[in-house]
Amino acid sequence: MSKLPLVDQFLPAIIGPSLALFACTAALAQDGSSFGVTMPFGQNRQESPQVTELTNRAMVLSKSGNNEQAVELLKQAASIDPLSAVVHINLAAIFNELKRSEDAMQESQIAMQLAPTDERPYVTFIDAAIKGNHLKDARSVGQIYLDRFRKGSTRKRIERELANTSGGVKAPPGSPDNYLSLVTPKGKVVWAQSAMPLKVFIYPAGNCKGFMPQYNNILSDAFRSWEIASHGLVRFVPANNPGEANIECRWTDDPRLLPASQEGGDARCQLMNDSLVHAGITLVTYKKELPMTPKVIMFDCLHEIGHAIGIQGHSDSMQDIMYYEVYTSVQNPHVSQRDANTLILLYQQL
Ligand SMILES: [Zn+2]
Repeated sequence: MSKLPLVDQFLPAIIGPSLALFACTAALAQDGSSFGVTMPFGQNRQESPQVTELTNRAMVLSKSGNNEQAVELLKQAASIDPLSAVVHINLAAIFNELKRSEDAMQESQIAMQLAPTDERPYVTFIDAAIKGNHLKDARSVGQIYLDRFRKGSTRKRIERELANTSGGVKAPPGSPDNYLSLVTPKGKVVWAQSAMPLKVFIYPAGNCKGFMPQYNNILSDAFRSWEIASHGLVRFVPANNPGEANIECRWTDDPRLLPASQEGGDARCQLMNDSLVHAGITLVTYKKELPMTPKVIMFDCLHEIGHAIGIQGHSDSMQDIMYYEVYTSVQNPHVSQRDANTLILLYQQL
């Protein structure tokens, strides 16, 4: 595989003087609207019928799994019209699917220069760069993407994936399936064994709208689930009062109290010398747009407790309770084997 071309050395023949893609970050951050370079062509440019025909055929082939043949057709299209952004966007996406990371990055770069207001080639570039372990490139283009596409449709995912490239703790070879490296961006941050069992205080819900008495049982069950999953490495007992609690839990009927109001809960952790020393969990009992059912409450309880016991980020699999998007596994909210493996690796001396 060819060596990765540097972005600002790339494509001078087509674009003219090097576009200095990365140098534009500051300008973009100011106005968020322009590279400051007038593009003579862009995504509104009309493709020739021949190029359109080849692209359409390639897309059909790709959808039916024939990505290799699709690449050939798109390469033909690119040779007929090297300035077609659509052709390069599709070529990049297919190379990315084929795990040809460097080719995907190269095609994405061409497309970014041809259609700088289209978010797709940026996203493909970042995905491909992460897959190919070109993390510096992923972070550079990622920063441009985040500055430029403030309402980008994949912004949340890109933010998360970039955070994950900052280098977490690697589980030893042969470890069971886990996502330890994704949730240790700053190394392991856990409760000391001397703090066990952790004392948990649950504040009375008072008149919280939507609250049902069974929710306290669900919360207790959620703590129990993590204790069992951890094989006893993490243990909990009720606290007699908030003053002695390691973990305080509150119910609220006002989602606006949470940092991201679409979420069902929040966990705030305090550290001292890389150990957790206190955690506060807030759980929402009422949402206008979504009925809070016991299953949703269980999901939120398990998820926020996961954060409170040291899982600093999110899983990349929808099957896990620590997946970043809430409600995905709401049919059967539980600590998955992968969640459990990750927690155990977090608390074991590696
Ligand atoms: Zn979370």
